[in-house]
Amino acid sequence: MRTAQEYVESLHRLKRELYVLGQKVQDFTEHPMLRPSLNALAKTYDIAHDPRRADLFVRQGVDGQPVNCFTSLHHSSQDLVDKVKALRVLGQETGTCFQRCVGWDALNALDSTTFEMDQALGTGYHGRFMEYLRFVQANDLVCNGAMTDVKGDRSLRPSQQPDPDMFLRVVERRPDGIVVRGAKAHQTGAIFSHEIIAMPTLAMRADDRDYAVAFAVPSDARGIIYILGRQASDTRKLEEAAPDVGNPIYGGHEALVIFDDVFVPTERIFMDGEWQFSGALVERFAGYHRQSYGGCKVGVGDVLIGAAAAAAEYAGAGAASHVRRKLAEMIHLNETLYACGIACSAAGQATASGTYLVDLLLANVCKQNVTRFPYEIARLAEDLAGGLLVTMPSIRDLSHPEIGPLLAKYLQGVADVPAADRLRILRLIENLTIGAGAVAYRTESMHGAGSPEAQVIMIGRLSDIEAKKRLARRLAGVISQ
Ligand code: SF4
Ligand code: FE
Repeated sequence: MRTAQEYVESLHRLKRELYVLGQKVQDFTEHPMLRPSLNALAKTYDIAHDPRRADLFVRQGVDGQPVNCFTSLHHSSQDLVDKVKALRVLGQETGTCFQRCVGWDALNALDSTTFEMDQALGTGYHGRFMEYLRFVQANDLVCNGAMTDVKGDRSLRPSQQPDPDMFLRVVERRPDGIVVRGAKAHQTGAIFSHEIIAMPTLAMRADDRDYAVAFAVPSDARGIIYILGRQASDTRKLEEAAPDVGNPIYGGHEALVIFDDVFVPTERIFMDGEWQFSGALVERFAGYHRQSYGGCKVGVGDVLIGAAAAAAEYAGAGAASHVRRKLAEMIHLNETLYACGIACSAAGQATASGTYLVDLLLANVCKQNVTRFPYEIARLAEDLAGGLLVTMPSIRDLSHPEIGPLLAKYLQGVADVPAADRLRILRLIENLTIGAGAVAYRTESMHGAGSPEAQVIMIGRLSDIEAKKRLARRLAGVISQ
């Protein structure tokens, strides 16, 4: 297992065609706007070397060797439960999206889907995938699971789009591989990944054959272009005023990843035209990732609840009954999300390949709650923080020789807490609710791992409403059994 330092060094060997705020960036590991995101990813390496955390973060690899959990397959429902626990711990430690779960979810979804595809169609993808997994585990790599296409006109199927590149597709088949073109949007952690694992974004039909493609490529493969997405208050990271950032050490990033005719060698192709299995791959990846949110967002919720409690305390309101009631409500909402993450894991079942899959209905319920509860938790945090949350001056004003002492005097709450500490906590709340961290805590909760409608569709499909009707009819005496 690599250390955090070895991970960062391994990135130095990679090339990037990366654009940030309209400029090409060469040294992508040192860019101040990106560094917090790299720190969060590095934490996933660091934590696996902490002996107290080994039970959650170290797993067995394909050949029985110890590997970082983020590269492992789930061999039991306990493994699924431990995953949620691990993600909660990392959410607590970083207060943001630590970006590595997407690849973990992609590996697990590919394992069972390629196995079943081979059984049904006589293809040879699973052995190829296992070789790839060995490579990922041996080198302890960060994989970026790339699913969401840019999608063009949402009313049209991939093959009906006026521009055929709105969904990632195969544009050429060669004896030794394929050439792909398209773009994946909102790619969490992509810039600091070693590998990109691309998958289709929806269930394809026979006409969409060229779009039913899954593969892995090195993240610096020729033709891959990264464009960083902006976050609210992101340029504060460029200033020399760390406390104004709110969460100065950790952050996340999303990028648009363009595949401008990228070559994929045969041994890295895991689906090419088998449209019948694209739906299963999407469903499983989404199911795993919806489960993940019952861990990571809960951990970030823990941070926000703690910050709201500290802010109230610093203002001298810690003992007020309404403050305690609001904190209890935040905890209730947060633990409900956790309960869903644990439940879909505990109810997980073995797939044909032996890898465990979460209970998909419960995973979708988990994620559907995640699209709502963090907003309510954020609302309550803003309530407890008070208006100073959006009117407080900069840390630079507080350290100004003339106005600094005045601010320290007037922004003081309880006597034993300096104004600067109060400001730090409020900035963290700002970061998570309306600042750069809100990308991970709010909007990613809404749209990450699939927007709410995607879960509504899955909940409708996976819950047997006819069986429920039968129960009611039988009890009401409408039918005899
Ligand atoms: Fe992991 Fe959560 Fe970020 Fe997804 S949103 S990559 S599950 S930390
Ligand atoms: Fe996400």
